[in-house]
Amino acid sequence: MLRCMALVTAARALSSTARRAAKPSAARPKVLRKKQPPGVFDVGSLDRQALETFVVDDLKQPKFRAKQLREWIYDKGVDDFGNMTNLPAKWRTDMSARGLTVGGTIAGTRAEQVSRRDGTIKRAYELRDGSVIESVLMPYKDGRRTACISSQAGCGMGCTFCATGQMGFTRHLSSAEIFEQASRFSRELRRRGERLSNVVFMGMGEPLANYNNVLEAARRIHDELGVGARHITISTVGLARGIEKLADDPLPVTLAVSLHQADDESRSSIMPVNKRYNLETLLSSINTYQRKTKRRVTFEWAAIQGENDDEQAARKLGKLLKQHSVRDAHVNVIPLNPTKGFSGKKSSNVDTFCRTLQDEFRISATPRVRRGIDIDAGCGQLTTALEEKGA
Ligand code: SAH
Ligand code: SF4
Repeated sequence: MLRCMALVTAARALSSTARRAAKPSAARPKVLRKKQPPGVFDVGSLDRQALETFVVDDLKQPKFRAKQLREWIYDKGVDDFGNMTNLPAKWRTDMSARGLTVGGTIAGTRAEQVSRRDGTIKRAYELRDGSVIESVLMPYKDGRRTACISSQAGCGMGCTFCATGQMGFTRHLSSAEIFEQASRFSRELRRRGERLSNVVFMGMGEPLANYNNVLEAARRIHDELGVGARHITISTVGLARGIEKLADDPLPVTLAVSLHQADDESRSSIMPVNKRYNLETLLSSINTYQRKTKRRVTFEWAAIQGENDDEQAARKLGKLLKQHSVRDAHVNVIPLNPTKGFSGKKSSNVDTFCRTLQDEFRISATPRVRRGIDIDAGCGQLTTALEEKGA
């Protein structure tokens, strides 16, 4: 009975916030209501403005309580209302009784792997509708703490070498589902006196295909988790229209483009998106982006043995970037992470490839170590492993 009342109160609180919210950003609980189970309302899914409206209009508390709540959740990493000691005791118990939670779009952790080599943590989360997504936290020796998060469940882009692409598309993630992946890691780090410093959209999915939700989550990662905009990287398969849109976005995030091949025929054979936006169109969108933003663009290159990893391939890439006047390009070269549905092998020629780009074209190129090499840390690989085990 008590539980039923709590459910009704929470549902009322939601409808009231949705009705009275004044600003467009504050109207989001309508969407959230659809995604969350009855009786659970995730205050972590409200941005600054919406949380304030909720606290004042629905919880009948003064505005400063919203600030206090935010400090507990985002600065101190506390997610249990009972431990928010400067809030009135009655209000704390009321909030839990009303079915309010901090976080709630993620139903649970299906699997977690921690690398003994480098401390990388990889998680497969189950969402409320049963979809499974992946998030990774990478600690670096220089103090950086980088979260790699998903923007979609599965992906419809069909890159042949990618475990997520091999799964196909399930659905877009909501901005709250995207934000919660980062805020979970952020809270865990805050609790041990550390902070999340970087976020990369390199988990499952194509972020620019889910543009609005990704950008809204990125804004909250910047505003509420305190991650610098330049330290938020959106990696795209090459959706040219999305790149042009990003050039006009007020949030100055970093753009990474997954290239992997430097001629249309080879690129189309492993990345079907290239038939829609060929290299000419893609590089012209990058020119527009750079003209407007003056920001550096990073290129991702998954080095596949004998396919795109020799000096000739490096020269082809160097020429392509020079011909299209890409300014201040940086190339990240990562040996292919072998996947079940792709016959390509991981390259052992990464250093020569990088040196050719640097020496002959003055293009900066860095061989990247695959983080979490002893766990299934490739995008989509933990989920594939779970499916194989029938977990
Ligand atoms: N959809 C976006 C972001 C997610 S994929 C994109 O494609 O950019 C993140 C990165 O992992 C991309 O650069 C992608 O090409 C790369 N990737 C995917 N599968 C890989 C594999 N098996 N080995 C190495 N890199 C891979
Ligand atoms: Fe999708 Fe990126 Fe994987 Fe391609 S590499 S299938 S775009 S997640």
